[in-house]
Amino acid sequence: MTKLSQAKADVKEFVGKGPSHWQPFVTTKLRYLADWGRKYSLWPYPFGTACCGIEYMSVLMSRYDISRYGAELVRFSPRQADLLVVAGTISYKMAPVLKQIHGQLCDPKWVISVGACASSGGFYNNYCTVQGIDEIIPVDVYVAGCPPHPENILRSVIRLQEKIQAGADFPRGMKVEL
Ligand code: SF4
Repeated sequence: MTKLSQAKADVKEFVGKGPSHWQPFVTTKLRYLADWGRKYSLWPYPFGTACCGIEYMSVLMSRYDISRYGAELVRFSPRQADLLVVAGTISYKMAPVLKQIHGQLCDPKWVISVGACASSGGFYNNYCTVQGIDEIIPVDVYVAGCPPHPENILRSVIRLQEKIQAGADFPRGMKVEL
């Protein structure tokens, strides 16, 4: 008996036993599985420079509990993080530091811009304030508000998770407003 006919016979025997004898199995794509793991294991690097940083701290506490979304493992080394959370005003003097830190994050990496100041300069329309961090680095999700509600920040994490699961099909620059 050839290998092919042996294989056909094996399949026939397996199918012939009926569903009660079949072993359960799951099929998926490797990329889907990897993205599923990534979205529930975000390691944030907080770049908090002003009041929005306090709002971000509150979502880490038990009342809002960001660990429900798998994003509580805050790191203070960019080499151990893949999510940059920019919360607060960014001055042009600080801009090169932010750019360098973004470059040091692990790939694949994502950025959440928390609050009006980080997203657009807020009411600091002057010579020293960056008018939105997307002038310096790519942003995945913008969080509206001054300051944004903690729920708004949680919502941005959920939007980012949707983006990660969708892979390259999801556009950058999602806006989150409650
Ligand atoms: S957006 Fe408002 S709360 Fe946030 S850093 Fe700017 S001034 Fe502070």
